[in-house]
Amino acid sequence: MKNALTVDLEDWYHICDAGEYSEPARWNNYESRIIRNTEKILRLLKTHNAKATFFVLGYIAAKEPRLISDVKAEGHEIATHGFCHRRVFELTEREFEHDVSESIDVISSITNEPVLGFRAPEWSIRKETPWALSTLRKLGIVYDSSMVPLTGMGDRSFPVYPYKFNTPYGDIWEFPLTTTRLFWENLPFSGGLPLRIAPYFYVVSKIKRMNRQGHQAMVYIHPWEFDGEQPKIDLPLSRRFMHYFNIKAAPGKIEGLLRHFKFAPVGSVLGLS
Ligand SMILES: [Zn+2]
Repeated sequence: MKNALTVDLEDWYHICDAGEYSEPARWNNYESRIIRNTEKILRLLKTHNAKATFFVLGYIAAKEPRLISDVKAEGHEIATHGFCHRRVFELTEREFEHDVSESIDVISSITNEPVLGFRAPEWSIRKETPWALSTLRKLGIVYDSSMVPLTGMGDRSFPVYPYKFNTPYGDIWEFPLTTTRLFWENLPFSGGLPLRIAPYFYVVSKIKRMNRQGHQAMVYIHPWEFDGEQPKIDLPLSRRFMHYFNIKAAPGKIEGLLRHFKFAPVGSVLGLS
């Protein structure tokens, strides 16, 4: 069984709710580390013959079109992470449509292909944004990967496994954040801070168990997790923890997972491509 592997293609300063660092007007002032960090990921994936979905931030695509072509040339799937890295629940329906549409325009002008997948910054589709999936489908997106079945980050009523939603514009698949049941909550473990904290054997055993039950897991990584030398932003404590804690553990754990499991892009895992 192939699990889904995803990369949110964004630079070290693309952090939500981080004061001036969250303002796109300032982004050109910051050092760009995206090329060398993405190249580390590309080398690793090539070594293990794994293909992934890259959710590309529109801002990065506009700035580094060659990088996007290079990722595509390696056989990976190119999807969108929006343009300005704004959380969905901070936007109006119109602003969301504009942001995603702008990202699709710039990305498809590089790949010469329609953009089929979307991931929201910080998994930010919520109950308060009921228009999000229909807006995405209206823009031609056929799968989303932005929902978390966990109180606070999303909603416990959200699907735990891939699920097809109906919208006025057609059906759209949701591939939610992979979680494991612990008492009454669904806890994440397959990327970001949860992966960096969880013992490696625990992550492997959870994915194996899911696969035995016939479900695919989704692993997610960020280029800045491969960069121990990145400039550190003075963030509020909880956000600093989420972003930087145990960052040195990420590359080794990802490499282990690439050895242990077979991975494919989301579109392929869902049977859409
Ligand atoms: Zn992001």
